[in-house]
Amino acid sequence: MKLKDLGEFGFIDRIAHLLTTHDSRVVKGIGDDCAVIQISEDTNLLVTTDLLIERTHFLLDWQSAQTLGSKALSVNLSDIAACGGIPKEAFVSLAIPDRLGIEWLEDFYTGMAGVADRFGVSVIGGDTTHSLSDLVINVVVTGLVGTQEVLLRNGARPGDIVALTGPVGDSAAGLESLRKLTSVPSHLSSTLINAHLNPRPHIQEGRKLAQSHVCHAAIDISDGLSSDLGHVCKQSGLGAIIFEDKIPVSEPLEKFAQEMDVNPFDWALNGGEDYVLLAAIDKGNFRQLAKVAATDGWALIEIGEFLSEPGMTLSKVSGEKISIIPRGWDHFRS
Ligand SMILES: [Mg+2]
Repeated sequence: MKLKDLGEFGFIDRIAHLLTTHDSRVVKGIGDDCAVIQISEDTNLLVTTDLLIERTHFLLDWQSAQTLGSKALSVNLSDIAACGGIPKEAFVSLAIPDRLGIEWLEDFYTGMAGVADRFGVSVIGGDTTHSLSDLVINVVVTGLVGTQEVLLRNGARPGDIVALTGPVGDSAAGLESLRKLTSVPSHLSSTLINAHLNPRPHIQEGRKLAQSHVCHAAIDISDGLSSDLGHVCKQSGLGAIIFEDKIPVSEPLEKFAQEMDVNPFDWALNGGEDYVLLAAIDKGNFRQLAKVAATDGWALIEIGEFLSEPGMTLSKVSGEKISIIPRGWDHFRS
């Protein structure tokens, strides 16, 4: 069987069976945004890792070395945010092709240090080796979260509100713009390209959700809304309905989609790399939390509801209801 027939998540399910957890401190192993390990009565350690490969995830001429360095760390911090944690340490490993000189590498680490300093993260190790062809970047990030605060994918309850902490689709549209070098007004594409190249990890939002004690589950939108909502539904044993007219899309995305003659909701639903958080919030407490968020300067946008029946439904603006098939990013299929 080929990997592309199984898909990334089928592959993960399959290998997870081969690996044994030997320690009861492991609260959550494979299959969430972070691994969760209890290290004291009231504290969990979070660990997450991501691989970025040249030509698979990025082209070097899409961005400066600094921007690539900052993104490589930001996407890992986003997984800590999804679990409600405070990021602490990072380990950075690179496989470096000959064509990249020391100046390029210094710029890469300068970009990374900017994000690390902003979020109080200490880069304390890693590995470097030679690559025969592509640049390979691996980052590991640790974080801390209270044992009563940790947000996982499997805690959503029927009736919970499906909420987002920001707009979706900008990053996918930015990637499209980078790939096709389209002749779209530059002020539109630069906003979208920036969303793709310079994502902001929603650490503050994750902390607030974790501390609210009315958020039952969370995930970051890295694979795309349809896929990431699907992960929460699957792991919580639920279904969901979301409403097209409630999905937050930015003005630049709407205008860009119009220019390209594309439905902006295709990017919003099936794009990816938005790095906003999707959360399951207790229905009775949603309004109060959304109000607190607005006063605090962050967003909590209701887009739908978790249901006890399995399956995901999109209620279109027209009133038509259609099934959502997870069409977001799958590394072995996309
Ligand atoms: Mg994630």
